[in-house]
Amino acid sequence: MSHTAARKTHWIVSLNHRNRSGSFILLFGALGLHLADRGYGFITWLLLALQFLVYPHLVYLAALRSSRMLQTEMNNLMLDSTLFGCWVAALGFPLWITFTLLLSVHINLTVFRGLRGLAECLLAALCGIGIGLLIGGARVDMYTAWPTTLACIASLTLYLLMVSQVSFQRNLSLRKARERLRDSERLLQRQLEEIHGLQNQLREQASRDPLTGLYNRRHLDSALERELISRRQQESLCMLLIDIDHFKQINDAFGHQAGDRILGKLASILTGHSRPQDVICRYGGEEFMILMPNMTLELARQRAESIRQAFAEMTIGFEGEQLQATLSVGLSASPDHAESVSGLIRCADQALYQAKAGGRNKTVVWGPETVAVPIPDN
Ligand code: GH3
Ligand code: MG
Ligand code: MG
Repeated sequence: MSHTAARKTHWIVSLNHRNRSGSFILLFGALGLHLADRGYGFITWLLLALQFLVYPHLVYLAALRSSRMLQTEMNNLMLDSTLFGCWVAALGFPLWITFTLLLSVHINLTVFRGLRGLAECLLAALCGIGIGLLIGGARVDMYTAWPTTLACIASLTLYLLMVSQVSFQRNLSLRKARERLRDSERLLQRQLEEIHGLQNQLREQASRDPLTGLYNRRHLDSALERELISRRQQESLCMLLIDIDHFKQINDAFGHQAGDRILGKLASILTGHSRPQDVICRYGGEEFMILMPNMTLELARQRAESIRQAFAEMTIGFEGEQLQATLSVGLSASPDHAESVSGLIRCADQALYQAKAGGRNKTVVWGPETVAVPIPDN
């Protein structure tokens, strides 16, 4: 129960209770010396005891019980001012007592509420002075004997030191909180970068074929659309459709792993024969596609021929066997042959079909005369 209450108490309320309890005892001493010096009666002493020994705890309890704890505490500070104004006026404005009481309440409100607090405090103190004048009978007795003066100086000094120490502590904890905030901000930033990195990695993995490391069909579809839209028919885009000849026979004769090895080697040849801006993709099982932006048809044909030759000349060692294979290439270009994605693929496919029909191990550029003919087996 006490733990919960302590946890919920606003730090300003606890701080003011501590400060009030301590400094009011000192003020009780200072004002007590003055009352003794002037021979004030029992009622004044009783009021003094209530004000400086009991009151700090009453206002603390009031703040604790309030649903708006901080607001109540600010009201308490205003009440301090009014009462102090009342005391100084009722006692005839003794110089050191007036200075000590009024300065301390004004500092208090300025610390918590700035200039607005100062103005409000002044107003409250003036109200208190008005009441005090009514009680004390509007007299002026500014003299304070040296013991009272000394007690006031000591109280004020201790109070100011207390305020300074609290300010220092608050500053320190604020700086620490800011550092902690900066640390967690840095941590968050690092985590965010990690997430972005992982996202990019995932995106990259999702668009790659695991066997060859080339782009997969999914990536190609979006890349094709992008390329064609961005070009807007002003620049050329060549498409190479590449298919390994009689690949099934290689698989059947040497096994699937041998076939995989050939696919990997072909992927390296394709990469070696393309520019950074080309998009190379594994289009199907043993079919590959290369998009070559900004390339003339003739240059693309030459590139296709060098790929075909390089592949045909390559021998791949596999479990003591020397594997060799050839490939056929169909070539189409935008905007010469077609402007749409599907049109471009259809032309490249027809040209590839022609290459197969023409005996394989060939590059065929699509032309209007390219017609589908039956493909012989060899
Ligand atoms: P063609 O010259 O007419 O293209 O004949 P082909 O045998 O290459 O054509 P077909 O489409 O009949 O056979 C393609 C073969 O490619 C069949 C399939 O087993 C093989 N294949 C597809 N994907 C893979 C793969 O990832 N690894 C291996 N090793 N073989 C694959
Ligand atoms: Mg095929
Ligand atoms: Mg094939």
